[in-house]
Amino acid sequence: MRTISHFIDGVAVSIPGAAHSDVFDPNTGKVQAQVELDDGTALALAVASAQAAQPQWAAMNPQRRARVLFNFKALLEKHMDELAVLLSSEHGKTVADAKGDIQRGLDVVEFACGIPHLLKGEFTDGAGPGIDVFSLRQPIGIAAGITPFNFPAMIPLWMLSPAIACGNAFILKPSERDPSVPVRLAELAIEAGLPRGVLNVVHGGKPAVDAILDEPAIRAVSFVGSSDIAQYVYGRGATNGKRMQCMGGAKNHGIILPDADLDQAVTDILGAAYGSAGERCMALPVVVPVGKATAEALRAKLVKAIEGLRVGISTDKDADYGPVVSAQHKARVENYIRMAVDEGSELVVDGRGFSLQGYEDGYFIAPTLLDHVKPDMQSYREEIFGPVLQILRAETFEEALSYPSKHQYGNGVALFTRNGDAARKFISTVEVGMVGVNVPIPVPVSYHSFGGWKRSGFGDLNQYGMDGVRFYTRVKTVTQRWPDDGEAVASSFIIPTMA
Ligand code: NAD
Repeated sequence: MRTISHFIDGVAVSIPGAAHSDVFDPNTGKVQAQVELDDGTALALAVASAQAAQPQWAAMNPQRRARVLFNFKALLEKHMDELAVLLSSEHGKTVADAKGDIQRGLDVVEFACGIPHLLKGEFTDGAGPGIDVFSLRQPIGIAAGITPFNFPAMIPLWMLSPAIACGNAFILKPSERDPSVPVRLAELAIEAGLPRGVLNVVHGGKPAVDAILDEPAIRAVSFVGSSDIAQYVYGRGATNGKRMQCMGGAKNHGIILPDADLDQAVTDILGAAYGSAGERCMALPVVVPVGKATAEALRAKLVKAIEGLRVGISTDKDADYGPVVSAQHKARVENYIRMAVDEGSELVVDGRGFSLQGYEDGYFIAPTLLDHVKPDMQSYREEIFGPVLQILRAETFEEALSYPSKHQYGNGVALFTRNGDAARKFISTVEVGMVGVNVPIPVPVSYHSFGGWKRSGFGDLNQYGMDGVRFYTRVKTVTQRWPDDGEAVASSFIIPTMA
């Protein structure tokens, strides 16, 4: 059985006597590897390695650091196929979708190649007599990232690329459910010329996370995962004085106005609701048609379109999506479907009980559609994170607009319309962090920033873009005076002013 070890100081590291957990193939339900779980012992080694490597890395000029990222980008492109197959085999998303996962991470590597430009400070010449003021952006030292199972390439790359480009060392604690790709990313970074110790990977669950949160040498922690854990991580890290950014769960709504291009909206919704088996924080699991005629037409078109979807193993080139990640997650999603029915929703298409010949133990769920969902239902209020689409009917635009705004999560939202006036009102008033207009999955490009509102995000700075640079640097502001030779400066007992 293959064992996935920590990756510290450029090599695989195992701690004798450590616990392990199983890594499954979601297509077959069989254990394919075991991953080592840290209790803090490996983290201590990773921190020592990072402490030894970081000062020299920070002292290297930013352009030379960027050159390593350019090499890293080229290696990721070269290894795209290998990485996508590995990712798909542990996660269950199709190989084509796995390439998208890697590509969206690669976009952030490309962004990080240009970070020297963003590290330039500000300068005021002559702020007072002989006085100049300038600010520097310096690395924070050692940062850590704790990532979820659903984007094992993209999310680690969101974090580690800006962190190392800014001159930090980075310790990654990936999901224990699909840990192989994060290790490959670190191996490729070393191959690209990153000094050993600048990027280390430590595996584990809660004990490994707690060790990170309690480690004084780690100055900033970026987390992406479910909201309860995000809030816990945020609180414990912040109490320990760390800079924290913690992204949580989601329940994104797609509002359909009567004037929308319905065929295009259905095509968009289908991919956004069922792609990656709904295991995306920017998936669109709730659709809100405005008016009865829109709701009926939408439902009819969705039912027809769902019939044409193909669920298959993750290497099936014709599959629209593959299995969900684990047996527990499959049971959880099916439980939500049962709950939705018990609460009074109408089960229009039931995806439970789906089985693929030859893969009967795989974690497959066919597309599920629920209608007449109400805002007080638990199955609506909570994140399902599976191939389940809920129709929440609204009478008016204002009513439709109120649902995403009132929901506990505020990650993404989309409006489908041809009406610019409605779109402007929607953009300016909706209480959600990432907004799409006729765009179903509005994940911002790498030079903007990614982050949700309310229980979808704890902390002030978003992922990547300029916020990524802010998160991984500290600003130091210098006020310096070079008086003319021999010029005396009198002592002053009042607060200095430039007047
Ligand atoms: P998760 O919260 O179970 O795990 C996330 C990380 O936390 C993992 O590294 C895991 O090992 C660790 N962890 C698990 N239990 C812990 C505990 N009790 N204490 C401390 N750490 C713990 O999330 P997941 O199931 O891997 O990922 C899916 C979730 O992530 C969904 O809720 C999804 O919406 C969310 N997500 C959010 C974003 C975003 O940017 N907002 C992006 C992707 C995924």
